[in-house]
Amino acid sequence: MTKIAVVEGDGIGREVVPIARAVIEAVRPDLEFFEVEAGYGLWKRTGNACGEETMADLRSADAVLFGAVTTPPDPGYRSVLLQIRRELDLYANVRPIRGEGVDIVIVRENTEGLYSGIEWMESDRACTVRVVSRRGSERIARYACALAKSRRHLTVGNKANVLKSDCLFVEVCTAEAARAGVPCRTCYIDALALDLLMHPDRYDVVVTTNIFGDILSDAAAYLVGGLGMLPSANIGERHALFEPVHGSAPDIAGRNIANPVAAIRSGAMLLSHLGDAAAAAAVEEAVRRVLGAGIQTRDLGGVAGTREFGAAVLREVGRGK
Ligand code: ATP
Ligand code: MG
Repeated sequence: MTKIAVVEGDGIGREVVPIARAVIEAVRPDLEFFEVEAGYGLWKRTGNACGEETMADLRSADAVLFGAVTTPPDPGYRSVLLQIRRELDLYANVRPIRGEGVDIVIVRENTEGLYSGIEWMESDRACTVRVVSRRGSERIARYACALAKSRRHLTVGNKANVLKSDCLFVEVCTAEAARAGVPCRTCYIDALALDLLMHPDRYDVVVTTNIFGDILSDAAAYLVGGLGMLPSANIGERHALFEPVHGSAPDIAGRNIANPVAAIRSGAMLLSHLGDAAAAAAVEEAVRRVLGAGIQTRDLGGVAGTREFGAAVLREVGRGK
């Protein structure tokens, strides 16, 4: 039996994840779901945001459907998502940006770069080490090239004109692209950020380091209706976790106004990862139809609530069967 761990987490994660789960269940009633607790809410109750038990549960699953966790500005608090990404070694963060005339996949290195976690304070300065390893670059390059091979081409986002660490990243990515026979070009990340928004049709697969990918994908959300629309996958050799790109959005939590599309589409990516392309396509199609019928949440200019939107998608997937 295929087992799916479900982590609602905090904030709007608790509103959008149950909807995504219901949609996946509707197309794949054979999957077994189990709830796993993690996040700031759990930390407040137990003093631990993501303990060994949580990690063991996540490891035991075939895939994880994840909502969002709040990271409070508390010095004693470690980011749960960074911990999970590191412990499950989820090295590829895959963020498709799809919409009218836009079809881009941002592949972000997920375990090192400026999020290496190697940081310290000195008397009058704070230091964070940006780590780019050959092994880390090779595996993300291989992932991006395999994806680009089935699509069109690859762009390597970098700042090698300033950062030595990016010279290595570019060297590894271009070598891998040549080996794989993938058309490839390199682009400085600042110029890329503007050009991607002005000419999205010039881009297909974009591979880049951790923080650049994080920022670039939030900005690219502008092309397709905002953060509420973007799903993502975190892929490792042995584990996979699917989550909306957005965070817990405490400012709008608990008001039935969050857009559940990002979470539902993350569910579609999960189905695709399980090898069920037909179910994934059915979910995507249902979302497209509901949006096309003018049922939209407030961030898209509509009036539908989170639950009402979810109910409409469930009706559509039911009809598709
Ligand atoms: P976190 O600290 O968990 O990352 P955040 O305050 O950074 O939370 P995000 O979730 O990253 O919040 O989103 C930034 C803003 O975008 C939110 O304040 C919210 O207004 C909006 N937003 C994010 N996700 C959604 C969504 N699914 N539907 C509607 N608006 C959203
Ligand atoms: Mg955020």
